[in-house]
Amino acid sequence: MLSNIRIVLIRTWHAGNIGATARAMKNMGLSNLVLVDPVDFPSDEATSRAGQAVDLLEQANVVATLEEAIADCNLVIGTSARDRSIRLPALTAEACAEKACRESDQGTVAIVFGRERMGLSNEEIQQCHFQLNIATNPEYPVLNLSQAVQLVAWEVFKVASSETPPESDVEPYPRQRELEQFYQHLAKTSEATGFLNPAHPGQVMDHLRALFRRARPTRKELSILRGFLSSIDQHTSDR
Ligand code: SAH
Repeated sequence: MLSNIRIVLIRTWHAGNIGATARAMKNMGLSNLVLVDPVDFPSDEATSRAGQAVDLLEQANVVATLEEAIADCNLVIGTSARDRSIRLPALTAEACAEKACRESDQGTVAIVFGRERMGLSNEEIQQCHFQLNIATNPEYPVLNLSQAVQLVAWEVFKVASSETPPESDVEPYPRQRELEQFYQHLAKTSEATGFLNPAHPGQVMDHLRALFRRARPTRKELSILRGFLSSIDQHTSDR
């Protein structure tokens, strides 16, 4: 269960936060760390802050984009200290842990943390299914990055080590890569029918992405949608 729960840090500025994250994770039994374009890594500062979790730093995967970090994931939860202009279905830390543990039986679950100053970009938020906001003092809601990881990792640890850990009872969901392929297909077909003008796409695709994010199609439903698009493609090319 825990090995399938991945912590993703995006463009972390302070190497010390990467080390402290590794330690926070290992304390709570997590080991799957992915760093997206870190500013300063590997680094002595990260190593010294990791304590006995240097092995997590050594095994950490470093990638260039969030898309790469989550391509194989079937659930992606973004964390944020504030409300965003793009609103995603919200989860508390407890609900996030419960969901992550439940769905980790089926594949990899990512919990994504943003930059120290800027958090997550809108484009990155678009790639998440849910948003987690850790309840804090409204006068100062922004936690240090590694402490935010610590709190979430602790909730996950408590669920995973409880006497009755949640059992997977959900239908399989597609991986992120398959969802992105579906969005590309949807855009292409919409252009071929003339519904979408590639020169002026507007925000139609953003709205459609939001719709499918809320609906969260299962793998089976996504394959039906792909089949439906292919039938339109066939019809359009026959004309
Ligand atoms: N100014 C940024 C703060 C970034 S703090 C913003 O408004 O988003 C760095 C990261 O720590 C955030 O991107 C988020 O991943 C995490 N974080 C900090 N405080 C949090 C909170 N209260 N709830 C959830 N995540 C939090």
